[in-house]
Amino acid sequence: MSTELRSDASLRPAETLDPQDWSELRAQGHRMLDDMIDYVAGIRDRTVWQPMSQATRQRFRSDLPHRPTDLAEVYRDFSELVVPHATGNVHPGFMGWVHGGGTVVGMLAEMLAAGLNANLGGRDHAPIEIEREVVDWTRQLFGFPQGASGLFVTGTSMANLMAVVIARRAALGAAVRRDGLGESGQRLRAYTSKAAHGCIAKAMDICGLGSAALRSIAVDAAHRISIAALREAVAADRAAGLNPFLVVASAGTVDIGAIDDLADVAELCRSEGLWFHVDGAFGALAMMSEELAPRLAGITRADSIALDFHKWGQVPYDAGFLLVRDGERHRDAFASPAAYLRRETRGLAAGAEWPCDLGPDLSRGFRALKTWFTLRTFGTDRLGSMIARSCRLARHLAARVRAEPELELLAPVNLNIVCFRYRCQDADAINGAVVADIHESGLAAPSTTMLEGRLAIRAAIVNHRTGVDDVDRLVDAVLMFGRQRAAGVAPLIDAHAPPLVPGW
Ligand SMILES: *Cc1c(COP(=O)(O)O)cnc(C)c1O
Repeated sequence: MSTELRSDASLRPAETLDPQDWSELRAQGHRMLDDMIDYVAGIRDRTVWQPMSQATRQRFRSDLPHRPTDLAEVYRDFSELVVPHATGNVHPGFMGWVHGGGTVVGMLAEMLAAGLNANLGGRDHAPIEIEREVVDWTRQLFGFPQGASGLFVTGTSMANLMAVVIARRAALGAAVRRDGLGESGQRLRAYTSKAAHGCIAKAMDICGLGSAALRSIAVDAAHRISIAALREAVAADRAAGLNPFLVVASAGTVDIGAIDDLADVAELCRSEGLWFHVDGAFGALAMMSEELAPRLAGITRADSIALDFHKWGQVPYDAGFLLVRDGERHRDAFASPAAYLRRETRGLAAGAEWPCDLGPDLSRGFRALKTWFTLRTFGTDRLGSMIARSCRLARHLAARVRAEPELELLAPVNLNIVCFRYRCQDADAINGAVVADIHESGLAAPSTTMLEGRLAIRAAIVNHRTGVDDVDRLVDAVLMFGRQRAAGVAPLIDAHAPPLVPGW
């Protein structure tokens, strides 16, 4: 180093982003950790959710911070502004959409992962081995052969998109990666049920096949794909000179938790030579429950499975996952050579298979660690019994709905999702208002869906903390707000969520 640079004070070790005073930072860090553990431990004393005032929202609008702010002050803003207005899915009263509850174990693992600041795009280090180990556990869970591959991604939307890309590459060969879809690509057709998640059509759109190339197949009364209609659609497309390549079956539809007959879909895909992908976003992990696994019969024959550890797996967001039976096919769709990513036989650049060969991302965080901690500390038996428990709670909710003359059940209960509503005139508008009332009351958080043109209150029990009292509170709240709304009374709601650290 030149003498000039050596005397430049800004190049000295003290001039980094690390603190001058480690003990102060340590005390602040311990306090944040304790507060967050208290938050989860005391979550039942809080409202599920509360709306943000305009004044609070305004606090999030400010100029780019050029100057430093004390960590304690930034943390105080987090405590006062963010925590009282979080989504609410840590709370046992949260039953909207399909959100996992997370665990403190997962939270701690996130902290450890951030400390290591590992990049799991590739190279030879233990974090990659952790991801490989979780991939192998997932392979075992679904009875896939050695040679299967897998990858952590953001969520099932991304995993489904990647499955479409892999199936497309398998159908069209290597040329599609160089030349694009071309004329033969225009003829590809995929199939899924009318009850499938919207991200599958979006995946077809994003990868250039077009959402219209996805056939939307009729379902039976239980929302399962009609195998007869699927077979007919494939035959009709073949007769028209088109090229069927992919079936996406659902293991747990988003509306009512229906599971397609996966064994029948597997059989049809085998005889027709189609890629068999399963959207198992939340339902696939029911494999961890001995009681529920038989409902997924046939899933072990899939070519690929998309699932979310952040839903029924209770791993903190995000922890989506794609499992592919034939690792070669998986690599064929994504691996690409680059000089700066050269693989060596020794040193940090060693390790033949790098995760960046298996998906679109190069830099990748350490999602595997929170999943590894979750699977190891609880074990799949325990996680599986939490999954079965949420299905029992759903049956309790359905029984309560059936027992209340003012309520009606709108769909069969397959797994953990219950769709119901308050009976009244103008029921769509009233039930929509009731759901917003419940949200604003902080008592619970269901969501809504449309079933055969009728608005349903939808409760998806995913959170391991949800218990029978929480389910009863939801029913009571629907009855209370339903009566008020049906009588034309706007309810008075006065809910208030405290900051993380009260009394600041
Ligand atoms: C949640 C869900 C998705 C989307 O998964 P993300 O993790 O939110 O991207 C897809 N399909 C089904 C059935 C789902 O429940």
